[in-house]
Parts: sequence; structure tokens; C-alpha cells
Amino acid sequence: MKKQILVTGGAGFIGSHLCEKLLQNGHEVICVDNFFTGKKRNITHLMDNHYFEVLRHDINDPISVEVDEIYNLACPASPIYYQRDPVQTTKTSVMGAINVLDLAKRLDVKILQASTSEVYGDPELHPQPETYRGNVNPVGPRACYDEGKRCAETLFFDYKRQYDLDIKIIRIFNTYGPKMHPKDGRVVSNFIVQALNDDDITIYGNGTQTRCFCYVDDLVDGIINMMNKPRDFNGPVNLGNPEEYRILDLASKIMQLTNSNSELVYKPLPEDDPVKRKPDIDLAKKELGWEPKVSLEEGLKKTISYFKELLPGK
Ligand code: NAD
Ligand code: UDP
Repeated sequence: MKKQILVTGGAGFIGSHLCEKLLQNGHEVICVDNFFTGKKRNITHLMDNHYFEVLRHDINDPISVEVDEIYNLACPASPIYYQRDPVQTTKTSVMGAINVLDLAKRLDVKILQASTSEVYGDPELHPQPETYRGNVNPVGPRACYDEGKRCAETLFFDYKRQYDLDIKIIRIFNTYGPKMHPKDGRVVSNFIVQALNDDDITIYGNGTQTRCFCYVDDLVDGIINMMNKPRDFNGPVNLGNPEEYRILDLASKIMQLTNSNSELVYKPLPEDDPVKRKPDIDLAKKELGWEPKVSLEEGLKKTISYFKELLPGK
């Protein structure tokens, strides 16, 4: 059945892939974005589609559209961007959540929140299951994002308890792929752009910290599976690829795949940078029948091809 679907943050990296997939699945999509980190080029290929509409709008202001489902992805996700205007980041997470929840309440429609592995902070438990309550520094530079997203989860559950709203929460772990912004600042895009330009590869700290990297197509499948669950399943559910890599090993892999002559340079580790992170995805496997399919090498090759096309002379 064709649905009208609202995607906030639809011009961003993950949001644009989600809009594309929902259109492919035969739905109408309204993309709402203030273009803080999103780019028109992420969605220009969708503009000719009569079932796709874009609204330039900040979700800190109330929004009124008629839709059947809402995916709330609006929020800068890269540490350098969410820390650039931290007050705005908290507002977007909290005020933005209230505005989209009020819309869902008025329309009585399902709403999904893109939460994050950052709710676990610098985790003391490894890998992280959804039951882990986290280790977040509430006054550190990452708190605007971590605590903002934690408060948004609280709001989603309170709207469910208080107004019987059909809510879904996913906790996304590091995701990468085409349409990441070349200056986004996150590790995969930084390393690929640096490697393709033969610039120094910037390792923060000693590079032994770990992350797990999920290819965006896998993630989008998981997001849609979650939205399609019946109303008795709300999550939160982790979505990520459990293969764990040291940042140094990610750098070597990218240098090898790009035949790069870059050198490694070591920079200070940002404050509160988590030492390790890896999703426990048993719940996603059980409830959504979901697990990632794309290997890091395969995903990196596709991402490298995207950046080669995007960067002049590559
Ligand atoms: P992104 O920065 O590429 O996309 C975010 C989008 O939201 C952008 O288009 C931006 O312009 C828009 N936006 C920001 N503030 C807004 C506001 N106030 N009103 C309207 N639009 C606004 O980031 P992304 O990687 O695509 O992340 C999308 C969502 O997924 C975010 O909510 C993020 O927290 C979450 N997430 C992403 C990752 C990841 O690894 N990419 C990990 C965990 C969680
Ligand atoms: N990182 C790095 N060099 C970079 C960018 C990031 O070494 O140029 C490190 C960063 O310190 C962190 C990891 O890579 O330990 C992942 O960083 P990212 O910003 O991609 O995501 P997050 O910290 O939110 O997991």
C-alpha cells in the first residue's frame, strides 16, 4: 500500500539513502531538512520523481504535514558539526523530537527515532547490548549530542506511555557509504579523502581505539524493517555491523584500497572519545531478522568510487 512518509534530515547522508529506498518501495516521500549538514546534491536525482517533495524547514519549529509515517533523522551526526553549535544540537534533539512527536500524536501515526550508539557513551561493557545504560559524561563536549539523544529516547517512551503513540527507536552504530560529505569529519570520509589526495592520514590518539562500520544500504534495510514491526515492539534496537576494527587498521585498509602514498600523522585524541564500541545485534537478528551483509572491503570500495567521482581530478 502506498504511504505518505515524512523523513526529517532527508537531505543528509543516511536520510537521502532512506528517501531513495522508500521511493523505490512505491511510497510518497516528504523530505524535511534545514540543510545544516545535508546537501541538495544528495537528493537532486530524486527531484524528478513526482512522489518526492522537499521542504526547507528547521524541526525546532512545529511542522504541519499530512503523512502516514515519520522517520526522525534530523540532527548533525559528526562530532565536529554537532559540537560547532552545541546548544542548537541539544535543541534539535529535544525540541525537534517534541515537534515531530506532537505531529505523530495529532495524526496518530507511527514514528521512528534515529538514536545512536553514543547513548552508551564511553562504554564499560563490551559489546553493548540495548540493556546497557551507558557511561556518558553529562558535562563534556559530546554531551549535547549524547544527552540530547538520550532525552529524545525518553520523550519517545513518554509519548508512548502517556498518549499510546506507536513509537520505534533504533540505535545506529557508525555507518558509512556514498553521500557522506567529504568534509564531514568522520573517520571513514576523512581517511578516504586524505588517502585519495595523498595527504596525511590523521590518527587521533594512538589509533588503537575501536569502532565497527556498517554500510549504509544494510542500515537502511534495518531501519525500514524496524518501522514495519507491529506496535508492541518499540525497541530500542541496535543497528550496526559487529565486525570490530582498530582505527589504525581502518587506515591501513583504506590506504591499500586506494593505493595511497599518504603518511600517518598522530593528533590529540578528542575529549571523551570512546575507547571501544561494538554493537550486540542479537535483538535485531531476533526481532527484525536483520544482520549486515556488506563486508567492510566491499563497502569501502563503493565509498571510494563515490569520492573519486566527487573529488576533482581523482
Ligand atoms: P547528516 O549530518 O548527514 O544528516 C543529518 C541531516 O539532518 C542533515 O541533512 C541536516 O541538514 C539535517 N538537520 C540537522 N539539524 C536539523 C534541523 N534542526 N532541522 C531540520 N534538519 C536538520 O548525518 P547522518 O549520518 O545522515 O545521520 C542521520 C541521523 O542518524 C542523525 O539523527 C544521527 O544522529 C543518526 N546517527 C547516524 C550515525 C552515523 O554513523 N551516520 C550514527 C548514529 C546515529
Ligand atoms: N578519528 C581519527 N581520525 C579522524 C577522524 C576520526 O582517528 O580523522 C577517530 C576518532 O577519534 C574516533 C573514531 O575515529 O576514535 C571514530 O570517529 P568518528 O568521528 O567517525 O565517529 P565517533 O567518534 O562518533 O564514533
